[in-house]
Amino acid sequence: MPKPSEKITKEYPARGPLTQFRFEKLIHFTCSLCNQAKTSKMLAISDQNWDKILCNGCYGLMLSK
Ligand SMILES: [Zn+2]
Repeated sequence: MPKPSEKITKEYPARGPLTQFRFEKLIHFTCSLCNQAKTSKMLAISDQNWDKILCNGCYGLMLSK
């Protein structure tokens, strides 16, 4: 999906290929890992690619590997 037009209020330091963002408003997206429709202010992307959005749960899982 294209990068959401909502305002990013915080960009967290990259963890390897992953970058986590907090948005001002809720974002509707489909997680590229668990394929679930999510609504959250917090999400992460892989390789700076907005086609590779991860939900917060999957982001945590990726970091724990
Ligand atoms: Zn997920």
